Amino acid sequence: MTDVDVIVAGAGPAGLAAACLLALDGRRVALVARKQGDATDPRTVALMQPSIRLLAHLGLWPGTLKDQTEPLRKLRLIDDTGAMFKAPTITFDPVELGEEAFGWNFPLRLLIPALFARARELGVDLTDADAAGAQPVSGAVSVTTTDGRRLQARAAIAADGRNSVLREAAGIRTNRWAYEQTALATSFAHSGAHDGISTEHHRQAGPFTTVPMPGNRSALVWMERPERASQLMALSDADLAAEIQIGTHGALGRVFDIGPRRLFPMQGLVARDFAKNRIILIGEAAHVVPPIGAQGLNMSLRDAAQAADLMEGEDDPGNAALLAKYDALRRRDVQPRQQVIDMMNRSLLSGFVALEAGRAAGISLLQQFGPLRRAAMQYGLAPSSGLPRAMRLALPADQGSAPTSIA
Ligand SMILES: Cc1cc2nc3c(=O)[nH]c(=O)nc-3n(C[C@H](O)[C@H](O)[C@H](O)COP(=O)(O)OP(=O)(O)OC[C@H]3O[C@@H](n4cnc5c(N)ncnc54)[C@H](O)[C@@H]3O)c2cc1C
Repeated sequence: MTDVDVIVAGAGPAGLAAACLLALDGRRVALVARKQGDATDPRTVALMQPSIRLLAHLGLWPGTLKDQTEPLRKLRLIDDTGAMFKAPTITFDPVELGEEAFGWNFPLRLLIPALFARARELGVDLTDADAAGAQPVSGAVSVTTTDGRRLQARAAIAADGRNSVLREAAGIRTNRWAYEQTALATSFAHSGAHDGISTEHHRQAGPFTTVPMPGNRSALVWMERPERASQLMALSDADLAAEIQIGTHGALGRVFDIGPRRLFPMQGLVARDFAKNRIILIGEAAHVVPPIGAQGLNMSLRDAAQAADLMEGEDDPGNAALLAKYDALRRRDVQPRQQVIDMMNRSLLSGFVALEAGRAAGISLLQQFGPLRRAAMQYGLAPSSGLPRAMRLALPADQGSAPTSIA
């Protein structure tokens, strides 16, 4: 039996960030994870400024990661639905908020190893097996692993993804739903420049979103009806490049050099409790949203940072009052955001004229009224209720300087 302060199950980006934050605060952390990332994952994740500050707090930004990421200088929404009420094209510019970029776009296959290496440097103890279950023991939680070990801590963090074993062990139920959509994630080279602009084309089967990568290359998240997504997946590189070129209306020039691709069926999930029985849910163990507006991992990193904030200086980091506070704080951020994303997505899928008209009217208002547009951009970056400590740090002025706290 191993005794630590906190057990983290799952070495996805959320679990690794939580493990690093807790270790940085001086906690003894055990990470239970058989798999640490997937080098073939084609996804990139757009991380907004608060998440970048968290990476700086962990000592991972700017560093070598910066050279392999690309700033998101503008976000553009284009109505490609062909609906009766067409929304105007709108471009969000972070300069209106006094920021040079909304954030940066990271390949997950680079972000996860960087977080994992940092966790090891910070002394996080790795158990190279998955979590098999958890039981309460007096004043603690005991986690069993798939290789028969037993670890004990005052608290456990469930970062073991949407089918979380620890969530189940905590007795937490979920609300789940499926969308009639599958996302194709890939990347491609293009002859024109992207100018740091991420473009979300709203189509009837869902968004078709290009996100800048270094050089003349972009990541693509293309949401389609499942049958169509499977057809796209089966195309040759040349045929897929031609389809992507049509999807972008040629705005990025000639499309070529398609990267690895993968399909992601679209689901939604929200846990009915975000923490219970000494187990705190973070990331996709707590909430799953479709990739619209780059919210999923940004919310998950706020989960990790919030859990670390509440645990700071606590003798018992799994006490009931702390768990109740975590539940209330995270629910306030996650649930309204999840509803907005759901509504955006369904307004595309439904084909109801009233919903289409509502979407077009909403986007027109954002386009015309600066204060409304700035409020929407601010909301996309961070919740109005405030940010955890690690996300309120000034970014280093240059590559060499250390992060300075302004909290
Ligand atoms: C196409 C696409 C594009 C996206 N783009 C963005 C974006 O631009 N911005 C953004 O913020 N978000 C984005 N997201 C969302 C983002 O990818 C997810 O929110 C994020 O990867 C979830 O991280 P996680 O650590 O919670 O879960 P996961 O990445 O699922 O990690 C869970 C980990 O737990 C492990 N595990 C499973 N079971 C166990 C067990 N029993 N014991 C131990 N470990 C276990 C798994 O192997 C895995 O390593 C996107 C998602 C998709 C599908």
